[in-house]
Amino acid sequence: MGGESGSNRAAVQATNDDASASKLSCIKKGYMKDDYIHLFVKRPIRRSPIINRGYFARWAAFRKLLYQFLICELNGDGSHTRKQILSLGAGFDTTFFNLQDDGKAPHLYVELDFKEVTCKKAALIESCTQLRDKVGGSASISREQGEVLGDHYKLLPVDLRDIDKLDHILKLASLDPSLPTFIIAECVLIYLDPESSRSLVGWASKTFSTAIFFLYEQIHPDDAFGQQMIMNLESRGCALLGINDTPTLRAKEKLFLDQGWQRATAWDMLKVYRNFIEAQEKRRIERLELFDEFEEWHMMQEHYCVACAINDAMGLFVDFGFPKDETLSGSTLTGSP
Ligand code: SAH
Repeated sequence: MGGESGSNRAAVQATNDDASASKLSCIKKGYMKDDYIHLFVKRPIRRSPIINRGYFARWAAFRKLLYQFLICELNGDGSHTRKQILSLGAGFDTTFFNLQDDGKAPHLYVELDFKEVTCKKAALIESCTQLRDKVGGSASISREQGEVLGDHYKLLPVDLRDIDKLDHILKLASLDPSLPTFIIAECVLIYLDPESSRSLVGWASKTFSTAIFFLYEQIHPDDAFGQQMIMNLESRGCALLGINDTPTLRAKEKLFLDQGWQRATAWDMLKVYRNFIEAQEKRRIERLELFDEFEEWHMMQEHYCVACAINDAMGLFVDFGFPKDETLSGSTLTGSP
């Protein structure tokens, strides 16, 4: 596929181990709670305060948007709307297990990743009672296939660039295109070639008529900080193949609108931290560690963003997303009807 070298595939998969280790570092410092991530980390490491704070911001933004989605109900009918979550390039993400503990797990949670990754995750789920209990006693688990098929949780292997396979995966996972669906792509699309990202985003829009697409990844490759960020990853054999195709907030929004999404808003993480993450939470975590790298923090946060795209056939998401921001004109682009 696209003449990709094996080293890039392995290097991209290694970013998942990196993310898990960083999340564990945050948990240990008290930034957030997660009783499962330690099960996925072989070698715990301590991250610097700035990295911990960055992961906290990513987690807090994601969680706030996900919870908004989970509480959305159709007006007044009183019945509970069934919902789905589809995580693209899920890696060792533990959201499903944590939602179970919070009593917030949706009707169906589906995770996709390369087979090498899903095999490892399936093996860990099979061997840890704590995880196996959460996917349900009747779930079938295959380490060799890298599959877990439970009533409310599915883990399946797929190369996300293989768009033709996605409809098949949809059926295997019992995803219902008519149900409200929250799609997660955290640090995933940026590693795909632009053509594959566009196809994936377009497939998701065509498939799910009531959906949120949550994207978190790098932006601004052109300044000194951006260049350094790209070089650091490239030196590990891990190219950010998508970054020049969507280098700005506007470009991220346009990616979704061009592929048929009705609305799309992208904010950089500096703005997300200032204007979206709860003040009370910020006060709590800002006391956890000595922190004086403000200039570096600002620069780093300007180089990551959250984009939220919405398809709203049911009229479920009228008030969904970041607060409306009248002071910045045109922060939300709207697709043509
Ligand atoms: N979303 C997780 C993991 C991010 S690391 C988190 O935020 O913690 C990126 C993940 O995307 C890796 O697990 C990698 O294997 C997966 N990935 C990258 N390209 C992929 C592709 N073409 N098909 C399937 N998975 C892919």
